[in-house]
Amino acid sequence: MAEVLVLVDHANGTVRKTTAELLTIARRLGEPSAVFVGEGFDAAKEALAKYGAEKVYRVESADVTDHLVAPQAEVLAQLVASASPAAVLIPSNSAGKEIAARLAIKTESGLITDAVDVQAGEGGGVRTTQSVFAGSYSVTSTVTKGTPIVTVKPNSAAPEEHAGAAADEVVSIEVSEAAKAAKITESKPKEATGRPELTEAAIVVSGGRGTGGDFSKVEEFADSLGAAVGASRAAVDAGWYPHTSQVGQTGKQVSPQLYVACGISGAIQHRAGMQTSKTIVAVNKDEEAPIFELVDFGVVGDLFTVLPQATEKVQAA
Ligand code: FAD
Repeated sequence: MAEVLVLVDHANGTVRKTTAELLTIARRLGEPSAVFVGEGFDAAKEALAKYGAEKVYRVESADVTDHLVAPQAEVLAQLVASASPAAVLIPSNSAGKEIAARLAIKTESGLITDAVDVQAGEGGGVRTTQSVFAGSYSVTSTVTKGTPIVTVKPNSAAPEEHAGAAADEVVSIEVSEAAKAAKITESKPKEATGRPELTEAAIVVSGGRGTGGDFSKVEEFADSLGAAVGASRAAVDAGWYPHTSQVGQTGKQVSPQLYVACGISGAIQHRAGMQTSKTIVAVNKDEEAPIFELVDFGVVGDLFTVLPQATEKVQAA
């Protein structure tokens, strides 16, 4: 069975959920091999084995870790040449998309970005699905040249555990001078909020223009549930919440078990980032707000009255 390479998304060995999703998808296509670049392999190994990585290519050279994305594309290009994989799956984040684009050029292969589903194609190859125009259309594509390179959006598959050997093989690589043209000079961890990562959280509570810039009630409710905090673009553009928290077409795509939209009208561009959530709840003082067309449970009321009551109930439970 042909190998399927998965670029591991991790922070010092703490493997992000997207990697488990990609390994799950890779198993539909062939034999998953993880590509681990950076430090902390010992911490990562268990997670990679748990989600079915049969092999792990380890790259720990400072040539790769001290630089931005270009060396990672060189590593993957080398592995594509030596392992002839059936496909390469890469997380659809900004670094992942740049790595994928560089890899496609180096290997003269077709590239599909932002897939929400990847299946084995007829007669080999892959068949991908992309969701476009804010989720109004689904596009099915296939790569017709070279090795299929696909960036996959978070939450495109439910991670399934499957024991893999995760046999590691150290990859040594000479990184070209051109790939080392940009160097990381400083890397600071984000200020810890104690909240889960937005795209990985089981519960997301988001605030919109209806907060008037005061996210305290949204945050308190989120904390009572152990949830991540998201925001609409209106809230982000007003400078009330960081851009990294934006949910939607031009923000992050989330698919938690529970999504609570507070003071958010439900514009199509916001829905594009959250409509696949398992249960959707909205708090909005306008009973005509379009978000109510989408919800499983709706509360018509002022979020500054409703959320403190909800927080109190959760804390008392
Ligand atoms: P509004 O639409 O102004 O809604 C505010 C809501 O709060 C109203 O329904 C109101 O009834 C309610 N409200 C007010 N006060 C209270 C209160 N005290 N208690 C309860 N409810 C209250 N938007 C995104 O979110 N994400 C994106 O990624 C995104 N990408 C975009 C891309 C493009 C190309 C374009 C053109 C737009 C994009 N937008 C995106 C913007 C989107 O069209 C909307 O403008 C935006 O989502 C509106 O945000 P909102 O719901 O917070 O604000």
